[in-house]
Parts: sequence; structure tokens; C-alpha cells
Amino acid sequence: MKLLVLGGTAEARQVAEATGAVLSLAGATRKPLAMPHRVGGFGGVAGLVGYLQAEGFTAIIDATHPFAAQMSRHAYEASAQCGLPLLRLARPPWPEQPAWQMVESLSAAAAALPSHARAFLTVGSQSLAPFLPRDDVWFLSRSIEPAAQSPVNGTAILQRPPFSLQTELALMAAHNITHLVSKNAGGEATAAKLTAADALGLQVIMVKRPRLPAVLTVETVAQAVKWVENIGE
Ligand code: NAP
Repeated sequence: MKLLVLGGTAEARQVAEATGAVLSLAGATRKPLAMPHRVGGFGGVAGLVGYLQAEGFTAIIDATHPFAAQMSRHAYEASAQCGLPLLRLARPPWPEQPAWQMVESLSAAAAALPSHARAFLTVGSQSLAPFLPRDDVWFLSRSIEPAAQSPVNGTAILQRPPFSLQTELALMAAHNITHLVSKNAGGEATAAKLTAADALGLQVIMVKRPRLPAVLTVETVAQAVKWVENIGE
């Protein structure tokens, strides 16, 4: 059995480590890795099919971020073309709260912000473009990696999760935040911002997950490792 794990999440790294798989990364972050891996796009579905066949992979786990929809669609199509088993590993979304304003896209999130809002933007360095035209809103923009372009009105901070409730409360209060903008990524490492926003009475604008092709899906690393063990028998 030769397994390819499509990564970009902590869970992907953990599954690859536990199974001895090759981890594939898009190359967005510059963290060094001491495990079998490759970096960079494949060149669409055709490129991925060619790579899978040339390297003799026999199974794929799509453990990309829940918002990395293009890579997930490519994995679905390439696995079908190659006849390879595909598992999706996706942590569960945060349960929707009645007080949240749910939106379908980043553009809708940007449009939902009222003029003169002070928004805490936690959507990632690659997702800031729809917010750039909103110079009537002040942004506290937080990301792991620096963004190519940040909103002109506001300040950008670089921080890596996990974040505690105490630090999230202090950060939001210090900047007089009125709105929190988030993707529904799920997971505990970044969930404290939601509790903090609720405690401070802020409006949460939550971007729904993109719709993806229906594939066999598990929520935990342990379940993904079990799947690998089962198909390897
Ligand atoms: P995307 O829109 O779904 O994918 C764009 C292109 O990037 C893909 O078509 C593929 O290029 C390449 N790519 C993406 N993931 C790859 C992987 N694991 N290995 C090799 N190539 C990959 O992805 P994205 O939203 O830009 O995310 C890029 C990476 O960051 C992903 O690995 C994702 O897990 C991680 N990430 C994303 C988010 C987010 O909010 N979107 C948050 C945290 C981490 P080709 O077509 O050339 O193959």
C-alpha cells in the first residue's frame, strides 16, 4: 500500500506520521518538515493523475482544510479516474449558533459588515481580497503567514494557534472589536474566539463551508488511521 495524504492541516501531518504516508503540501507555509513530503501544486486534475500513476500510489486521504475546495474536488476526480480509494478527513464544523450571521462566501461576509464596524478578521492570509475595498471598516487582521496585501484601515498581527479564551478576550477588548469574521473551520485550537465574542456581545459573521463531492468522510485522525489499516489488509 502506498498512501498520499493531501495536507495543509495538523490532522494531515498526524495521519501521515502515523501511517508513513507521503504528505503533500501546497507550499503556503514555510514550516520545515522532517517526514516524507512533497511541496507545490500538481497542475490540476491531469497533473495529479499523472503524479499518482508515476509514483504508484494506491490510496489517497484528503485531509486538506475544509475551505480548500478546489484541491478536494481535484482529489475526487483524480481518484475516480485512477480507481483509487479516497477518504476525506475533516474535523466537524462548529455548531451554528442562532446569534451568528451565516454567509455563503467571503464576499458576502465583507458585504455584511456595517460601515464603521471594527472587525476582527480571522479568515487566513489568502482570503483577505474581498475585504480590501472596505476602507469604511477598521480591521484587526490575524493570520499565521503574512498576507500579500492587508486592509489599509487597521492593523495586521501574525499569530499561530492555539489561542486561549483569556488572550482572545483581551485582544478583542483592547481593539474595541464590534464584529468577528470567521470561516467555519471547526476545531478546538481556534474556538476560543467564538466564546470570547459571545461573552463580549459581538456580532459573529460566519462563512459556511463550501459544498464538496460526497465521499467517505471521517472526523478524527484515529478513524483515518483505522481506514488505512483496513484497506491495507
Ligand atoms: P485550494 O484553493 O483548494 O487549492 C488551490 C490549488 O493549490 C490546488 O488546485 C492545487 O494546485 C494546490 N494545492 C492545494 N492543496 C494542496 C496540497 N495539499 N498539495 C498540493 N497542492 C495543493 O487550496 P487553498 O484554499 O488555496 O489552500 C492551500 C493549502 O492551504 C491547502 O493545502 C489547505 O489545506 C491549506 N489551508 C487552507 C486554508 C483555507 O482557508 N483555504 C486554511 C488553512 C490551510 P494544482 O491544481 O496545481 O494541483
